[in-house]
Amino acid sequence: MRKKIAAANWKMNLTFQEGMELVNALLTATKAVQEPCRVILSVPFPYLSSVSALVKGHQWYALAAQNCHHLKSGAYTGEVSAAMLSSMQIPYCLIGHSERREYNAETTTQLAEKLMRCVEEQIQPIFCCGEPLAIRDKGEQNEYVARQLAESLFVLDADQLSQAVVAYEPIWAIGTGRTATSEQAQAMHHHIRAVVAAQYGEKVAGQLSILYGGSVKASNADELFACPDVDGALVGGASLSDTEFTAIVRSLCKA
Ligand code: PEP
Repeated sequence: MRKKIAAANWKMNLTFQEGMELVNALLTATKAVQEPCRVILSVPFPYLSSVSALVKGHQWYALAAQNCHHLKSGAYTGEVSAAMLSSMQIPYCLIGHSERREYNAETTTQLAEKLMRCVEEQIQPIFCCGEPLAIRDKGEQNEYVARQLAESLFVLDADQLSQAVVAYEPIWAIGTGRTATSEQAQAMHHHIRAVVAAQYGEKVAGQLSILYGGSVKASNADELFACPDVDGALVGGASLSDTEFTAIVRSLCKA
C-alpha cells in the first residue's frame, strides 16, 4: 500500500518559538494519525534538532530538510550536506522546489546530484516538479513534467526510486490561492505514474507516493485526496496554521 503523506513546508517562516508552539499544537490535535498516513514537517535547518526531539515517540511524524547541497562536503560556506542531515537522522529532504529552482538557479543536473547525495545517505528525497502558467496555457504540461522527471529523478535506479516521493506542484498554484482542480491534479498524477512506469515498471510506479502541492487548504483537501493517484499533499501557507494543517491531516487520514 502506498504511503499517504501530509507534508508541511514552512519555507522561511516562523520564529523558533512560533514553530515549537505549532508543532506542540499539531501533536496534540493529530493523535489519530496511523498507518499508512505520515506527517512530514519540512522546517528550517536551525529548527531540525528541536523539532526532532518534539516528535520523538510520535511514530507517524517525520522531519524533512528543505534542501541539501549537491556536493558531498567542502568549502561551501552556509551550505548543508546530505551527510550532515543523515548524521542527525533526518529522514526526508525536499529537492527541486520551484522556489529554489527559480531563486537559487538550481539546474536539473544539480538536482540529479542532490538526489544521489540523498539516497547515498539513506535520506528519502521528496522530488518537486511542476509547470509554470505559460506552459499550462499552451497545454504542454505533460511533456514539461516528463522532462523534469527524466532530467533529474531518473538518475536513480529502481531501488533508489522506491525510497523517493514525488510532489507535483504547478507553479501557478503555489502561494496564489489558485488550486488545480481535482481533475487537473488527477490527470497529471496519472501521467507522472505512467511516465515512471515506462521507466521503472508498473510495480515501482504503483508504489510511488505522489503528492499534490499548490494552495492546498482545509476546504479543498477532501476533494484532492479523493483522487486515486493523489497520495497526499505538500502544503506551504496552510501548514503555518495549526487548525488548517490539522484539518488537512484529518482529511488525509479518512480518505
Ligand atoms: C509549496 O510551496 O510547496 C506550496 C505548495 O505552497 P502553498 O501551499 O502556499 O501554495
